[in-house]
Amino acid sequence: MINSKRISNEFAQQAAIDSPSFKEAEIANYLRQRFVKLGATLTEDTASKQIGSQSNNLIFRFPGSKSGQPLLLSVHMDTVGPAEGIEPVLTGGVFRSAGNTILGADDKAGITEIIEALEVLREQEIEHVPLEVAITVCEEVGLLGAKHLDFSLISAKRGIALDTTGISYVIHKAPAANRFTVEIIGQEAHAGVIPENGISSIQIAARAISRMKLGRIDEETTANIGVIKGGQATNIIPRQTILEGEVRSHNPEKLREITRQIIGLIEDEVEKARITVDGSEIKASMALELNEEYPSMHVDKQAEILQLISAAAEAIDFPLEIKAAGGGSDANILNANGIQCVILGTGMNKVHSVEEEVLVEDMVKISRLLVEIIRNA
Ligand SMILES: [Zn+2]
Repeated sequence: MINSKRISNEFAQQAAIDSPSFKEAEIANYLRQRFVKLGATLTEDTASKQIGSQSNNLIFRFPGSKSGQPLLLSVHMDTVGPAEGIEPVLTGGVFRSAGNTILGADDKAGITEIIEALEVLREQEIEHVPLEVAITVCEEVGLLGAKHLDFSLISAKRGIALDTTGISYVIHKAPAANRFTVEIIGQEAHAGVIPENGISSIQIAARAISRMKLGRIDEETTANIGVIKGGQATNIIPRQTILEGEVRSHNPEKLREITRQIIGLIEDEVEKARITVDGSEIKASMALELNEEYPSMHVDKQAEILQLISAAAEAIDFPLEIKAAGGGSDANILNANGIQCVILGTGMNKVHSVEEEVLVEDMVKISRLLVEIIRNA
């Protein structure tokens, strides 16, 4: 019942449309026409103006042929780079890019699978509850589209995001993340002539970092200092050093606590760094920029949406593992806005690289699973 030729054609068409974050006009146009052709009514929010993207988030509605709670399907239309002149090539049942670009299976494999499932529902006249498909922009740049999505346009309280690698996975849990930038300001001085008059911002950073616990903090928490920039020349005591880091946790309290500890250690070392020059005291200082990137999500294993997916998988002998993710996605934002939403693998692999790939066979399997889920929703 799933048409693998149609899937290949659909995916190839979408992948050939470059759609890096903020430049989604062309793919949005394609998707508007494609979904309306499938019988959807289109609504858009006004996110483009707020985030400076070429397109709004698109919400498509399919009326139910039977009554019941509406079901949301969620995907994103933007990709990471390099995404100029993407040429999808199908060899031996696997899509890869021809050149030095990503493929864009993240997230176009998911969009393709939804379209195929909708084609099959229509062809086979399968009865279903009302369906809503939300296609966001700018997911890859801090979930900007989802964060500015007009949730009054969505009525579903349960959903499935198609946006993780591999197949046979459902993600029910993902951490929250804090990201921070700290600028440490010391005192510049000639390193060879009057080092007594200088405060090294690099040394302050080094002292603070050496006291931090980084990497895996516990089973649900991680921390990292990922960028360090500072100094100008070997003969200058460095005035400015910038640190960039992040903390992730499935537990909001631990997220706050570990973030506070890391920032506290920098504050402590900055506070201790002071010298006296010509009778007056010179102190180091710092500026902190802290961003709460996204909230955590946790859908209970007994939740109706997971039972629905598990039952559908079982009915077609599809092995499915429920697990936790290490990163955030649109689903974190959907859950925070009252939609119980899990994330399904789409078959995409090696994403965010020029080696990105997806098997047609895997897209066929997920489309099949989607049909079964929707049939029983
Ligand atoms: Zn994605």
